[in-house]
Amino acid sequence: MVAALLGIVGFTQLNTPLNQLALFATPTVTFTPTPTQPNTPAPSATATLTATATQTHTPRPTQTATATHTATRTPRATKTPTASETPTEIFTAAPVLRDARVPILMYHHVGALPPDADAVRKSLTVSQENFEAQMKFLADQGFTTLTIAQLVHHLQSGEPFPPKPIVLTFDDGYDDSYTNVFPTLKDFGFVGTFFIIGAPTDYGSPGYLRWEQISEMYENGMEIGAHSLTHRYNLGAARASTQDVEIKNAHKLMVDHLPNWTPLFSYPSGSFNQHTLDLLQELGYVAAVTTKQGTLQSNAAPYELRRIRIRGEWNMAQFLYWFNYWNARP
Ligand SMILES: [Zn+2]
Repeated sequence: MVAALLGIVGFTQLNTPLNQLALFATPTVTFTPTPTQPNTPAPSATATLTATATQTHTPRPTQTATATHTATRTPRATKTPTASETPTEIFTAAPVLRDARVPILMYHHVGALPPDADAVRKSLTVSQENFEAQMKFLADQGFTTLTIAQLVHHLQSGEPFPPKPIVLTFDDGYDDSYTNVFPTLKDFGFVGTFFIIGAPTDYGSPGYLRWEQISEMYENGMEIGAHSLTHRYNLGAARASTQDVEIKNAHKLMVDHLPNWTPLFSYPSGSFNQHTLDLLQELGYVAAVTTKQGTLQSNAAPYELRRIRIRGEWNMAQFLYWFNYWNARP
């Protein structure tokens, strides 16, 4: 098993090509500030989020398309076109860029802190009590949880979103995802997306989900994604061969354990580069989530979905403050 894990495995390309929108320029709707947490947040007693607007706009044709179009319309002087040579109109349907404001919440641990927890662990850990209060808030406000695959489907197809769509993600595949998160989500009738680190799960490392648990969650409607093989590298700074091992071997573990798995990825520490994107596309990934803060998602950038990091040290007022803050921004 170790040898299989560490070797680069050959992969059959999946039948799910990345959407054609890779041809178009990725819109750069960016915002940089990562706010520091204020000492005194201004909580709003009831958050009043309105329905997500779906905007559509038609992009300019790409240069390649224009060139082809011109070429097919240029008649050859020396020859009368036959029927088979009749120029074909290639602009049958203009591609549509769609974006929508859909919050994707990013959690890690949910549950009790170990006695020796440091600041990082505290920030990554939302207590069970706070988690339930946050889920109750979403339920009371009428939010509808979506999987990442559903989110991308709506963005790409233009099918209207349900009222107040939201995605709940849980990174790193800790065993409290099974013991604490999974039952809570079921109680609220919610779905969640769990990003698994391949190696610790496959080795049975303490504190991580086991395949039987992941399979049970998967069979009960939870969505499962890959989060690299070891989580030891910032992929955006890693050499291509390292990225190949981290992504392809994690991918193979998922395919081997989860029937009809839809490939989804979460970049460890949010780090990726062009090679990462090319690799995901080659393997047929449908979407990938970043750690870029925000709620505006676009069908032109399904590998750069934005999230809102939920911090363990927040009380409910702070959760509401930041939830509303990010939902009011691009
Ligand atoms: Zn992680």
